Amino acid sequence: MTASLINRATAATVPLVPIESGNFEAWARAQARPVREWLRATGFTAARGQIGLVPDAAGGLAMAAVGIDPGDPIWSYGDLAPRLPVGSYRCAIDLDPAGATAAATGWAMGSYRFDRYRRPGRAAAKLVWPKGADRAAVTQAVAATFLVRDLVNTPAGDMGPPELAAAARRLARRHGAQYRAIIGRDLLRRNYPAIHAVGRAAAKAPRLIDLRWGRPGAPKVTLVGKGVCFDTGGLDLKSAAGMKLMKKDMGGAAHVLGLADMIMAAGLDVRLRVLVPAVENSVAGDAVYPLDVVPSRSGRTIEIGHTDAEGRVVLADALTEACRETPDLVVDFATLTGAARVALGIEVAAMFCNDDDLAEAVSASARRAADPVWRLPLWQPYADYNRSAVADISNEPSRAQGGAIAAALFLESFVGADIPWVHFDIMAWNLYDRPGRPKGGEAMGLRAMFGAIAERFGRRRAPARRTRG
Ligand code: MN
Ligand code: MN
Repeated sequence: MTASLINRATAATVPLVPIESGNFEAWARAQARPVREWLRATGFTAARGQIGLVPDAAGGLAMAAVGIDPGDPIWSYGDLAPRLPVGSYRCAIDLDPAGATAAATGWAMGSYRFDRYRRPGRAAAKLVWPKGADRAAVTQAVAATFLVRDLVNTPAGDMGPPELAAAARRLARRHGAQYRAIIGRDLLRRNYPAIHAVGRAAAKAPRLIDLRWGRPGAPKVTLVGKGVCFDTGGLDLKSAAGMKLMKKDMGGAAHVLGLADMIMAAGLDVRLRVLVPAVENSVAGDAVYPLDVVPSRSGRTIEIGHTDAEGRVVLADALTEACRETPDLVVDFATLTGAARVALGIEVAAMFCNDDDLAEAVSASARRAADPVWRLPLWQPYADYNRSAVADISNEPSRAQGGAIAAALFLESFVGADIPWVHFDIMAWNLYDRPGRPKGGEAMGLRAMFGAIAERFGRRRAPARRTRG
């Protein structure tokens, strides 16, 4: 990531001239005639995404003019790193601090490639840090996003529960956090029966990853992420097409690890806890049967109406544990329902929240970060859809409509009534390329939620104060 943002220009560094489409004519008039004529002759109009490479007299590169949409200051820079000729660039105009931060963010986000299984592709073009950019904020957001993308993109064969746990442990080590995991049959001994039930059929043992960091007396923020490392659907097996992308079903876990990375790197004064139920929803002789009733940590029983609705089952135990110590905020991320995608498409994260002020803060932060989220209602009458005739609750809603809401209400029933809670139902995957957001694993709502947490709980730990006698 930092490789695409560099500290110093050299003699070979090319001026990068961002131009708003509407300002092109005025800008062109102020240029030397050969520059103006070259851009006109090559059809450059500063349309968003357009690149105009202008040669110098010696045949070298004199400047790179790029079309920018002022309404989209981050992603306007999103595909420059992979598209501009390899080399280094510096912004030829002074951006305001927010604009400089946005440009650096978009540039770096676009430099991502998943090269674990192939030779690295062409190098990304490099940008000299624009003056005034908040380097720490950019570095933290981009590093966390790349962590999410890498974890989601890694195939399930190499990203099962043990490997996901190893990634969490590496993160904990890097930030001096405490790491624990409860594995296999220990889940039963420690009363996480729902997590065990979903994961017990897999060759790789299910586990609950538990990470803690921060000042003990600080506000408690607990993150819970769905870590279904592969979702076959269980005995209610998915079709081949429906199963294909299911390596991304640990996307929620990837998100909370990314969010934890940002919180710890920024040094927010919170007592952070991260809980990830990491399982594979697999098929074997001991897989959960449809209509089995499984106990949960809360003491309530769950009827398994459908073995493919496993995410809410493992989250039930994790949310119960999260709420046990009455945190000041609980946030969960999960690739939970297809219904959320039907409602909002793949680009917008569905957000549910039991606190209007908190929801508005997340939405405002999302707008600032160009990280779209949309609030859906915890419409209480639909809680009836989760009723079971034989158990305390069913994981299979009785109606085909409102599936994302019914799933959110299922989760809410395991969250303490007075605990501020945000639930994200996300895709965690780009089905197509967009500037700065290549096809594949993606962080969605991550920067939005970080902004809201930073705002709510203060940015940093207070520096140690020296008193004078
Ligand atoms: Mn499923
Ligand atoms: Mn799933």
